[in-house]
Amino acid sequence: MLLTLATTHQPATDLGFLLYKNPAGVQSFELPFGKVHVFYPDAREELCRVALLLDVDPVRLVRGGGRGEGALDQYVNDRPYVASSFLSVAIAQVFGTALSGKSRERPELAKTAIPLELSISCVDCGGGEEVLKRVFEPLGYELQIDRHELDEAFPEWGQSKYYSLTLRAVTTVHDILTHAYVLIPVLDNEKHYWVGEDEVNKLLRHGEGWLPNHPHREFIVDRYLQRKRRLTRLALERLTEDEVLDPDATEEKNAHEEEAVERPLSLNERRLGSVLSVLKKASARRIIDLGCGEGRLLERLLAEKDFSELVGMDVSHRALELAGARLRYEQMSERQKERLKLIQGSLTYRDKRMTGYDAATCIEVIEHLDPPRLSAFERVIFEFARPNTVILTTPNVEYNVNFESLPAGKLRHRDHRFEWTRAEFQGWAHEVCARYKYSVQFISIGDEDPEHGPPTQMGVFTV
Ligand code: SAH
Repeated sequence: MLLTLATTHQPATDLGFLLYKNPAGVQSFELPFGKVHVFYPDAREELCRVALLLDVDPVRLVRGGGRGEGALDQYVNDRPYVASSFLSVAIAQVFGTALSGKSRERPELAKTAIPLELSISCVDCGGGEEVLKRVFEPLGYELQIDRHELDEAFPEWGQSKYYSLTLRAVTTVHDILTHAYVLIPVLDNEKHYWVGEDEVNKLLRHGEGWLPNHPHREFIVDRYLQRKRRLTRLALERLTEDEVLDPDATEEKNAHEEEAVERPLSLNERRLGSVLSVLKKASARRIIDLGCGEGRLLERLLAEKDFSELVGMDVSHRALELAGARLRYEQMSERQKERLKLIQGSLTYRDKRMTGYDAATCIEVIEHLDPPRLSAFERVIFEFARPNTVILTTPNVEYNVNFESLPAGKLRHRDHRFEWTRAEFQGWAHEVCARYKYSVQFISIGDEDPEHGPPTQMGVFTV
């Protein structure tokens, strides 16, 4: 198992200081599952490349208490060759200081983005190239992916599931090692050690600053935690707790740490509370939540006896799975199941299953749609589904200046296609009303800024 890291930032041999490994010789370390060797195939002023060669001992894996079943218990397996969590452990052991972003000899350089190239000789990626791109491209890497044949001597056998992967970016050594450390086990999908709650902490710690905004964070968390539903949910909840989306929750949390009893409501809680009270006022009984995500609103609605039928719809299967887990759908009695349905579908296609409800909610969804699809969305909701009440919320982009962590001009979430000012949202809403014969009322959610308005804007459309 081979990983190399190279830079052309001059003097390139400073890489040795960042990694605490002298370019002059070979160093070897014992790990519980094998040996790791660090050496420099190139150590010149203009190019320096370090190699980490991990020699996993398959016999020791078996004798050292494998997991009881599966490939790890056989002497012949791909573990010695494929980048896996063993490699992550080796990175942490051998480049631990660099992984934590520190350097005694070159502290400034450790924080500087420099041209870096990280190669992994062999990754086993079940989902193929698409998964490699999904995971690394949003982090700004240029990828080179070479797929290996099953056997060069027998080309007719076709391709294997193994790839060589190279990541290139101008970034810090800390970042590139962190991304490799977290994402290698995500690709491999098989962990050699037991996944427990401790892993959640590890993931959150190493994911700080990039994972919360990664558009495929759910996929990453899910795979990293090896599809352990409970842990995945825990991690996602903690990841989204501090999301920029919810800045006043974080701010207030810090300010009122001691007032835990009367903890102020987060923006998300206020949003859900407002939706709930509008639904009650409208005397809605049958409700469809469009773009229901992980089912946070449905969770609140299920607790209310007044609502006789609830449907959550989302385009994402994964979101629906998480919603199912949150709402404990599988554990429900048949009667309870009659009250709740989770269905997969898109808001930009006319769909009979959306008709016949008293109210539709569309919470923080519209900004995820491509602008050219907006008119289709309008027709689907206001012309075809046509419930008596439509509740729609979306961020107010004017408020973004209040988010310290958000660079000017940036949207709150990477997957947002747009964010509207109050005038833009209201202009759009009035046009919709004129076209489809609805009327609209606007409600502010969250603490209003005197100049920039509330963080979230809500439109309540009624026939
Ligand atoms: N309403 C939820 C989730 C908001 S995130 C909440 O407030 O917590 C946006 C959700 O919209 C995601 O779950 C996403 O999968 C879904 N979505 C995006 N485009 C969609 C489309 N065209 N049709 C249906 N759902 C969509």
